[in-house]
Amino acid sequence: MDQQNPQPTDAENRVCSRCGTVAEGTPPTWTCSVENGTRHYYCESCARENIRAIEGRLDSDWW
Ligand SMILES: [Zn+2]
Repeated sequence: MDQQNPQPTDAENRVCSRCGTVAEGTPPTWTCSVENGTRHYYCESCARENIRAIEGRLDSDWW
């Protein structure tokens, strides 16, 4: 059994939750959004379009 690390490694590929773009590791330009306890990653272009929605959601749901 190889279950030493409970967290996924950084070498894991990221898939954009919006457009499906795949990247190696986690590019610094990508945005990670935690929604309902699940991490979602968005590529650079999607993050730009999504940042308002993410912030808007935080504003409306967190406060
Ligand atoms: Zn994308």
